[in-house]
Amino acid sequence: MTTPADQKAQDIARAQSIPSYLDPQHLGPYGIFLEQVERVTPYLGKLAYWVETLKRPKRILVVDVPIHLDDGSVAHFEGYRVQHNTSRGPAKGGVRFHQDVTLSEVMALSAWMTVKNAAVNLPYGGGKGGIRVDPRTLSNSELERLTRRYTSEISIIIGPDKDIPAPDVNTNPQIMAWMMDTYSMNVGRTATGVVTGKPISLGGSLGRGDATGRGVFVTGAEAMRQAGVDMQGARVAVQGFGNVGNAAARIFTSHGAKVVAIQDVTATVYSEAGIDPVAALDHLRAHGTLAGLPGAQEIAKGDFWSVPCDVMIPAALENQITVDTAPKITAKVIVEGANGPTTPAADDLLREKGVLVVPDVLANAGGVTVSYFEWVQDFSSFFWTEEEINNRLDRIMREAYLSLADVAERHKVTLRTAAYIVACTRVLESRALRGLYP
Ligand code: NAD
Repeated sequence: MTTPADQKAQDIARAQSIPSYLDPQHLGPYGIFLEQVERVTPYLGKLAYWVETLKRPKRILVVDVPIHLDDGSVAHFEGYRVQHNTSRGPAKGGVRFHQDVTLSEVMALSAWMTVKNAAVNLPYGGGKGGIRVDPRTLSNSELERLTRRYTSEISIIIGPDKDIPAPDVNTNPQIMAWMMDTYSMNVGRTATGVVTGKPISLGGSLGRGDATGRGVFVTGAEAMRQAGVDMQGARVAVQGFGNVGNAAARIFTSHGAKVVAIQDVTATVYSEAGIDPVAALDHLRAHGTLAGLPGAQEIAKGDFWSVPCDVMIPAALENQITVDTAPKITAKVIVEGANGPTTPAADDLLREKGVLVVPDVLANAGGVTVSYFEWVQDFSSFFWTEEEINNRLDRIMREAYLSLADVAERHKVTLRTAAYIVACTRVLESRALRGLYP
C-alpha cells in the first residue's frame, strides 16, 4: 500500500521531470478546443478572416515554483498562467491545483473562458492558471508557500484590470486570500480586485460559493422544460461532489428533483429513492469518503454512466463523456458543470441519441458571472445583498440560455455550436474593430 509520504515523494519526483509542454506528440485538451473552432468557422461569415487569432493563445507564462518543504528540502513545481484572449476586456479565469495539470489543459481551459465570458456577454477575455501538484500531499503551510510563490511569479501579468484569477479544482477562498495578499504586498497596496472567489470579509461576494451550481440549476431547468422533463421527482446523477457538484445537487433537490447517484474521487453511490446531498456532504467530511453512506449502495465506478436518470451533471474533470461512456447514458438532459467533460465525438453521439446537452460554456458560467459581480463590487466598494446577486445571476443565466436556444433553433445546431457562434462572433467583432497593433 502506498503511504501518504510515498505518494508525496512520487509526486514531487514527477514534478521534477520534463515539462509537459515540451511533448509535441500530445496536443491534449487544446486539440478539442481547436476542433470546436473548426466546427464554428463556417458560421462566422466575414469574421472568419480573424479566426486564427482564436486558435492562438495571446500569452503563455510557464513558471518554476520552488518552495521549501516542511522537512527542509526544496521542491520545484510547474505552474502556468495563460491569457487566451483579451479582445473584449481583461483575462478572467480560475487557477487549478491538480497532479494532472498540463500546459495544454490550461490553454484549453483559458480558451473556454474566452468563449464562456463572451457567450454570457461579460466584459472579459479568457485566462486560466494552474500548478501541476496534488495539494492533498502538502501541509497547510507548504500549500500557502506554493500559492504565494506562484502568485508572485505570475504577478507580472495579473492585476485587477489585466487578468483576474479565481478558484477552480482544488483551490478555494483561503487560497484566493493568499493570492490577494501576495499580489497586494508586491504592489504596495491592498488590491482586492485582483482575484475573485475571496472570503466575504476580504471583498468576496455573497452568493459566489453556490454561483456555479446555481447557474447549472437555472440552465438545467430551462433545458428540462425544453426537453419535457418535469422537475418534480426528476432523477439526477452527479459526477464530482465539490464546489459545483455539491451546490448543484443541493439546489436541484430543493426544487423537487431527486439525486439518485453521486460519484467523486472516493466512491460512486446510488439510491433509487434519492440521496440527501447535505447528509452526503456530512458523511464525506466525517469519513473522508462517500462509501458507506447510509441509505445508498456503493456501485462500480464505470456503472455511474448507466444509472437510470433523467438529468446527468458531470461536475468533475474533462474527457469524462467519451465514445465509451456516452452510449450508456440514459439521461435526456446533460448539464455540463465541469469544463470540457464531453469529447467532440461523444457530443455527436449524444446529438444522434437526442440528448439535450447544456454546454459548459453556458451551464457553468454562473461562477464567473458572480465573480464579475464581485469585481464590480470591489471597484465601487459597495456591496450588494445576496438576493440582488441571485436575482441578477438567474436573469443573466436564463436570458443567455433562451437566446442561445434561439440561435440553435435558427441554425439547426446544438446549444454548444450556438454558444460558439455567438461567443466567437462577439470576440472577433471586437478584434476586427480594434484592428492589429501597430
Ligand atoms: P472541486 O475541487 O471543488 O471538486 C472536484 C470534484 O471532482 C471532487 O468532488 C472530486 O472528488 C471529483 N473528482 C475529481 N476527479 C474525479 C474523477 N476522476 N472521477 C470522479 N470524480 C472526480 O472542483 P470544482 O470547483 O467543483 O470544479 C469542478 C469542475 O467544474 C471543473 O471542471 C471546473 O473547471 C469546473 N468549474 C468550476 C467552477 C467554480 O466556480 N468552482 C466554475 C466553472 C467551472
